[in-house]
Amino acid sequence: MAMLSVLRKIVQEVSAAPDLETVLDLTVRRIQRAMHTQVCSIYLLDSVTQRYVLMATQGLNREAVGKASLSAAEGVVGLVGQRAEPLNLEDASVHPSYIYLQSTGEERFHAFLGVPIIHQGEVLGVLVVQQYERRRFDESEEAFLVTVSAQLAGVIAHAEATGSIQPVGNNANSKPVAQDRRFTGVAGAPGVAIGQVYVATLPADLEGVPDKPAKDIDAELDRFYAALDAVRREIRDVSRSLAQRLRSDEQALFDVYLRMLEDNALAGEVTERIRAGNWAQGALREVVEQHVREFSAVDDPYLRERVTDIRDLGRRVLSHLQEAFSGGEVEYPDNTILVADDLSPAMLGLVPEDKLVGLISVTGSGNSHAAILARSMGIPTAMGVVDLPFTRLDGREVILDGYSGRVYVNPSDDLKNAFDEILREEQMIAAGLETLRDLPAQTTDGYRMPLWVNTGLVSDVARSLERGAEGIGLYRTEIPFMTRDFFPSEQEQLQIYRAQLEAFAPRPVTMRTLDIGGDKALPYFPIDEENPFLGWRGIRVTLDHPEIFLVQVRAMLRAAQGYGNLRIMLPMVTSMHEIEAASAQIDRAVRELQEEGLDVERPPVGIMVEVPAAVYLTRRFARKVDFISVGSNDLTQYLLAVDRNNPRVADLYAPYHPAVLKVLHFVAQEARKERKPVSICGEMASDPGGALLLMAMGYDVLSMNSNNLPKVKSAIRGTSLAKANSLLQRVMRMDDAEAIHQYLRNSLKEMGLGNLTRPALPDRD
Ligand code: PEP
Ligand code: MG
Repeated sequence: MAMLSVLRKIVQEVSAAPDLETVLDLTVRRIQRAMHTQVCSIYLLDSVTQRYVLMATQGLNREAVGKASLSAAEGVVGLVGQRAEPLNLEDASVHPSYIYLQSTGEERFHAFLGVPIIHQGEVLGVLVVQQYERRRFDESEEAFLVTVSAQLAGVIAHAEATGSIQPVGNNANSKPVAQDRRFTGVAGAPGVAIGQVYVATLPADLEGVPDKPAKDIDAELDRFYAALDAVRREIRDVSRSLAQRLRSDEQALFDVYLRMLEDNALAGEVTERIRAGNWAQGALREVVEQHVREFSAVDDPYLRERVTDIRDLGRRVLSHLQEAFSGGEVEYPDNTILVADDLSPAMLGLVPEDKLVGLISVTGSGNSHAAILARSMGIPTAMGVVDLPFTRLDGREVILDGYSGRVYVNPSDDLKNAFDEILREEQMIAAGLETLRDLPAQTTDGYRMPLWVNTGLVSDVARSLERGAEGIGLYRTEIPFMTRDFFPSEQEQLQIYRAQLEAFAPRPVTMRTLDIGGDKALPYFPIDEENPFLGWRGIRVTLDHPEIFLVQVRAMLRAAQGYGNLRIMLPMVTSMHEIEAASAQIDRAVRELQEEGLDVERPPVGIMVEVPAAVYLTRRFARKVDFISVGSNDLTQYLLAVDRNNPRVADLYAPYHPAVLKVLHFVAQEARKERKPVSICGEMASDPGGALLLMAMGYDVLSMNSNNLPKVKSAIRGTSLAKANSLLQRVMRMDDAEAIHQYLRNSLKEMGLGNLTRPALPDRD
């Protein structure tokens, strides 16, 4: 078989294995066979003892598994880990680093090839092949082992993480959870939290269902049987209604479905697991997952197709179970930490705000929209915690560090005390900032910097007014669209918009027209694309759907009647014709409403600069519109070519990248040449250091999440415009994003504003 297909098969098979032991065992067996070596072994680094432990082997003494180990600085294995690169030796036993592990019986082998297993930049362990003869492994063998290792690192990390948390109803034979087990994601929203996990599941999202102990096993069994009955009825109904139109072999598929549900198939296995203590939904997920794994691994394409059938059946049963469950109100713990596979803006409203202390998402990144909203709500959040075995965490106590994106499972008293201390410190800082509410955002040399807010959630309005916001620089209209079942009517929109305009009048309210696509989906208008951030987004969607755009603009205009504080803003503008087309629509809406006898006028219309093309056309665009607002979140992702939603590249998303700073400065200067007001409404304005730079660049308005407004105000009041200017001049000469960030942090500290940056946090393995 060609090596590529061998490789593919190994990865497929190993990925389908249910636990760490099987993952490692299969890996060594398959590699040994594929490479025709006498030995293949895996050593994993134990993070507590810092030793490489032999975890699986084919060829060495099996008795040594779990026992034989080397310190990270010892032996040729340690050397591979230390250097994080392959080591190919003709005779390992003569290498100066060689240490002979007697229990393994490895003295017979000479040729040695070890490659590191690296996941997310960290060495997890070492993969080794050995042979009797003295010879160097050739280049293609080395390349093969490196490739397998790179592909399996994620699978091994995930299996290891899952195995570290014992499943529900299976207490007898699994290891206890290690204390302070740490999972690393990326920062979502600052703050720390200690609380109890509640796993949120989307309807019919089987993979996201958590394990929970069954409170009443008989009741769970009854629920399951009822759901099964309902699904059987559904299948028979569909089968009957299609009877005329289907061939008999197609019709037979329904019988296959029905048989799969029988007691000696899926149903029996699920009831067994319910009896073992898992609730019905969790038991169903376990069984379906296991079958999916088994079927995915087989060669037969017919059987592989069955994976889809099993998943489909699983979802059907699940949706009936969820229906039965939603009858009862969910009891959220007092300190709920909401965990989701893919945290969406719509989920943020699930838990009552007085009970929600933290949010964790397995996918996504710090500039995903869910994280932005979490920041505005002031809820500590970790995003992209990709290895978190979240289905095993429901009901458990965890610590969440939103500054760094870390999550600690099974926290020790020591760690809890340390985080308690930080919580108290944060409360004191917040109380200190509250006194700023009625004071102006004015520098020590008298420069007045208007501070506006970004809104979208209902709760944003009260919070923003409480914190002394002087206007709304960005109202994300798509947020209220997300929590509905279909597009809101003109009347409904009018009411939603009026609430914002009324609460803020006479202060200006900038309403952005619907900005969906990217990571913002409407449940009733799905957009499924390969590259959603380069796809059908923002104004591209609304120009293709004038009916949606017109209704929205009409609702805004009507809502502003009597207040006169509306401004309309267009997202994702790339070309002049988009401005012209949208303007024409707005003119049409104004004309139509006037013809209907309403007293409306054309509001100021502006555009967002968030696509690089718009940067270079700022002056021309500025002549056509009333104001410019920079969306630095998208502008950063497009300039740096880093998907703002992808945790893998989260480290590369750098708002202080010199290129980003140059562009931001340029846009402010260009807009000013046309004497048009220029503001910024990306998250950068919410960062005290960023706000000072933007003020110095000449931005007329900074619009930010309401939660950070007091911190930004404090920074502005604590410095002079002259000082901000010299800060800007200095950083504009620097080359490195991280160095700039560090420099800003230090400068804030020197100005006595150190409490506005993150606290010193405990960091445990
Ligand atoms: C931006 O892109 O900077 C912006 C403010 O819009 P959003 O984050 O909603 O895409
Ligand atoms: Mg944007």
